[in-house]
Amino acid sequence: MNVCTLVIRVIFAAKQTILRMLNVVLFGPPGAGKGTQSEVLLQRYGLVHLSTGDIFRYNIKNATELGQQAKAFMDKGELVPDSLTISMLESEVVKHPDPKGFIFDGFPRTSAQAEALDKFLASRNASITCMLALEVDEEELIKRLLNRATTSGRADDADESIVRNRITVYNRETAPVAGYYQSCGKYCGVKGVGTVEEITARLCAELDAFAH
Ligand code: ADP
Repeated sequence: MNVCTLVIRVIFAAKQTILRMLNVVLFGPPGAGKGTQSEVLLQRYGLVHLSTGDIFRYNIKNATELGQQAKAFMDKGELVPDSLTISMLESEVVKHPDPKGFIFDGFPRTSAQAEALDKFLASRNASITCMLALEVDEEELIKRLLNRATTSGRADDADESIVRNRITVYNRETAPVAGYYQSCGKYCGVKGVGTVEEITARLCAELDAFAH
């Protein structure tokens, strides 16, 4: 095989990898329904679900060093620092050798995280397919989170001032991340109010359009 053929084959193989993976950022404020919808989407599309909140909670429960570091921020409704979050996310991604794709739930939550994710995926010949953003108004979010506290046992759901702080932090640090994906034509807003099935149907319609 000559060098030219080899180069073409390598480029083709890399392009196939990019095309094959379906990498979705499921976006939205706390209480928008990212976790609920992720469960349905991962089954339907055979994706790996990576929820940074769940991973942090797992680490807290198992009293790891990462858990101890994250807890101080989570208890106040603040974001865990980028450096900790990005390295944790990357080490989770590499645990899956040949995934069909990922649902990133709760990540990226800052512009620095979005840029790091793009760079990291590019180094693995992959990219984000799209960001699906669940849109829910603020009072509905607060109602949902306080209600979720009765079953989730999450301290950050139970206290209204912490809930409000999480939404403030979302508006300040996280909402601008949507612009990052808008600028590259990968953003799609989806109405996050209705039955779980109605919202799933909206998400799938958008995802199918991006995937084909
Ligand atoms: P919710 O979307 O309801 O806020 P999560 O489980 O996604 O719930 O997040 C819970 C908490 O975990 C956040 O308030 C924050 O402290 C921390 N966290 C989760 N993901 C990130 C992230 N990408 N960057 C920084 N902190 C995060």
